[in-house]
Amino acid sequence: MSNSHGYMKALKCRECGREYPLSATHVCEFDFGPLEVAYDYERIRAVFDRKSIESRPQTMWRYRELLPLAEEPTVGRQVGYTPLVKADRLAKRLGIRELWVKNDAVNYPTLSFKDRVVSVALSRSVELGFKTVACASTGNLANSVAANAAAAGLEAFVFIPHDLENGKVVNSLVYGAHVVGIRGHYDEVNRLCAEIAGKYPWAFVNVNMRPYYAEGSKSMGFEIQEQLGWRIPEHTVVCMASGSLLTKIHKSYQEFSKLGLVPESKWKIHGAQASGCSPITTAQKAGLDFFKPVKPNTIAKSLAIGTPADGFYALKVMKETGGHGEDVTDDEIREGIKLLAECEGIFAETAGGVTVGVARKLIQQEKIPRDSSAVLCITGNGLKTLDAVSNHVGATREIRPSLREFEALLAGSNHPQTVNA
Ligand SMILES: *Cc1c(COP(=O)(O)O)cnc(C)c1O
Ligand SMILES: [Zn+2]
Repeated sequence: MSNSHGYMKALKCRECGREYPLSATHVCEFDFGPLEVAYDYERIRAVFDRKSIESRPQTMWRYRELLPLAEEPTVGRQVGYTPLVKADRLAKRLGIRELWVKNDAVNYPTLSFKDRVVSVALSRSVELGFKTVACASTGNLANSVAANAAAAGLEAFVFIPHDLENGKVVNSLVYGAHVVGIRGHYDEVNRLCAEIAGKYPWAFVNVNMRPYYAEGSKSMGFEIQEQLGWRIPEHTVVCMASGSLLTKIHKSYQEFSKLGLVPESKWKIHGAQASGCSPITTAQKAGLDFFKPVKPNTIAKSLAIGTPADGFYALKVMKETGGHGEDVTDDEIREGIKLLAECEGIFAETAGGVTVGVARKLIQQEKIPRDSSAVLCITGNGLKTLDAVSNHVGATREIRPSLREFEALLAGSNHPQTVNA
């Protein structure tokens, strides 16, 4: 490193461009605009090329010059580089020429894309000297903060809505984190956390550490481009809670483009939400630049943010790239989960059902043309939201341990007959 901030230059207001020191802060004092990390792209260009990236370990840190740390990462060093799966059977079912699934349902260590943002936020928190980390979460973030904090020996407070899926709650408690259930929606959890962050010297990954945290999402987009053979996909479908992931995948395509790592091309980014919480896609469909807050009511709890912090910027990305927004009902979410499972052997959580369901709709509406290529971002694992589908996947059929009973069962079903018959 040739200076004390690595390749970062400053924090910069997205609205007025004013610059701030690289500390734990997230809003502009003048216009309350969100702060974003600015990089020294000239210096990055000199050291960052396909060959050097390909020679590095297969984790998200192979793109470390474009991630906001001063030094080498200390938390979550093994995160990322999840499979990009060519989904031919699903492509056929949805009626599109070429389809890929970016599978963050198997991200390390807590099976969601949140491990990307948390490893960045906690590594940066350690650099800034914090001993206690915290978050406001719809579930997966809590899991990832709890696990990564445990591994790093940091104390963790995670704040969640009181009515989250049991899988998500247990997956936070097991790591020994302080888990606080708030009787209210995520937006109320978030408001409380902003107050606590103002009073306690803690690193709230998605409050005062948000500029660093959010950059971690870019790694999902960097990997997509490298795994596609160094190109940008024509269409990318991303599910949205705050809308941050969608904006950062767009930024990852811009950065690789600007650095000459991928050929110049046009891309469209499409946003997916659940109908029970669709402030962003509802605004997109109405052609508006701003959203109206809603009260969430959906099985896709990881996406249940009624006042999305990056909703405005997500709308801008969809508009600028020519992408679309669409939403799906709880039943369509379950169908999406089953489609992905039955076609590709991938069990996604409800958010993945949203992505698949919306992709299906956009292809039906020809907003994603049938003769094109698309990437679906699968962001979380189905084992954490079993309740959402457990009554919709059929049941086991029980028999006594007898060949006769098995053959009776087989005769009564339309399964293939015996192998040597
Ligand atoms: C948090 C989350 C998202 C969306 O994140 P945003 O960046 O806030 O839009 C998507 N999928 C899953 C599974 C998540 O946990
Ligand atoms: Zn500003």
